[in-house]
Amino acid sequence: MSGLSFAWHAARSGRKPLVLEGADRVGGCLDSRRAADGYWYELGAHTCYNSYSAFLEVVEGVGLRDRIVARGDARKRFAFLRDGALDMLGPISVLLRFDRRELLRNVLRGLRASKQGATTCGWYSGVVGKRNYSRVLAPFLSAVPSQNVDGFPATGPGSLFKKRPRRKDVVKSFTLDGGLATVTAAVAATPGIETRTSAPVKEVRRIGPAYRVRLADGSEIEAPVVALAVPPSMAAALLRSDFPDLAGELARIGMAATESVGVVVRREKVKLPEMAFLVPADDLFWSAVTRDPLPDPSRRAFAFHFRTGLTDEKRRARIAEVLGVAQSDFEQVDRRMTLLPSPVLGHDRTLVEIDRMLDGERLALTGNYFEGLAIEDCVQRSRGEWARIAAQS
Ligand SMILES: Cc1cc2nc3c(=O)[nH]c(=O)nc-3n(C[C@H](O)[C@H](O)[C@H](O)COP(=O)(O)OP(=O)(O)OC[C@H]3O[C@@H](n4cnc5c(N)ncnc54)[C@H](O)[C@@H]3O)c2cc1C
Repeated sequence: MSGLSFAWHAARSGRKPLVLEGADRVGGCLDSRRAADGYWYELGAHTCYNSYSAFLEVVEGVGLRDRIVARGDARKRFAFLRDGALDMLGPISVLLRFDRRELLRNVLRGLRASKQGATTCGWYSGVVGKRNYSRVLAPFLSAVPSQNVDGFPATGPGSLFKKRPRRKDVVKSFTLDGGLATVTAAVAATPGIETRTSAPVKEVRRIGPAYRVRLADGSEIEAPVVALAVPPSMAAALLRSDFPDLAGELARIGMAATESVGVVVRREKVKLPEMAFLVPADDLFWSAVTRDPLPDPSRRAFAFHFRTGLTDEKRRARIAEVLGVAQSDFEQVDRRMTLLPSPVLGHDRTLVEIDRMLDGERLALTGNYFEGLAIEDCVQRSRGEWARIAAQS
């Protein structure tokens, strides 16, 4: 979405962008999986909010406004899986899982403490108490980026939560008919944008005032503007030869991998109550996200986001156990591997350095390692990067 939204803004300004995608499909983390009859579920990102104004600008720009669908009632229900027992929760009842005495001892002082310079573990432990944090809050927070979030900054770039103005004319929590990959597919098909899939880039070099992009097949493309919308570790590798300082800064940003497995099962087979997601206390997976907010009469689908290093058999067995089904009940099984950034304190300074090095360049960097992980953060960064480049032309 970062690369495609950059291309969309460039195309809207009359440029002719070429999108080079390494995989055999566009979309990256927007990864809606579809069955032959049109049933779909999300193996990657699943939820957008009416505070996603930059994303909505693209959705409307590609003519998908009437494909926005509200997420239904199940969005408000989730479960905590602890010691083999399923604890059904909602936004209020989750608070009751905190030890009340510990909470009361900490909350007032904790909320007054500054988030500046604090880690997620440090600040939130201060608010709810250390034990409440590790027992209840940490599993839910870590479920968001599928990794331990203790060291994430509590505020600013790389932090988990942001307040953004909401658009009143759009439902609060939504997806798109057909899944979020509907948006990336539509952007890729926008007139004026040329998209090539299975075209991994190997290197970006400087040639005078322009850039030369070398692809894995050995071919080269010259361009006056280049935007890299890949994980920071990949951007560092691509820029190493001619931009060593920039590559050095990018390489400081840690990454964490997640292996996701999605399954589709007949509705009557699954014992699990309808819910938006499930978070385990200490398990092989970080979270499982369902399609229940958009219920289907005959099927349910679940995307489990696993820790790395497990065999496929182990992952499938755990999914079957949690859902209370046999592996032979899986009608469809899909897999993906994702690399997500792991920001730490000082991430804001790294970003300032990166932006300083980009100043005056017609090289853009965008992605989920700038403002934050959310789709909206990505699109906002891309819009900003396009504005910076356009201002130089
Ligand atoms: C499981 C999961 C659930 C999420 N849920 C939500 C959610 O509900 N709401 C939300 O707002 N956000 C969510 N997010 C976060 C959000 O989806 C991502 O942060 C965002 O989509 C990242 O977009 P991106 O374009 O920056 O990166 P990516 O989507 O990772 O795209 C990078 C692209 O670059 C390509 N690429 C990499 N290297 C090369 C190369 N050398 N040459 C060419 N191409 C290359 C990749 O193939 C990929 O297509 C979720 C993320 C995950 C993983």
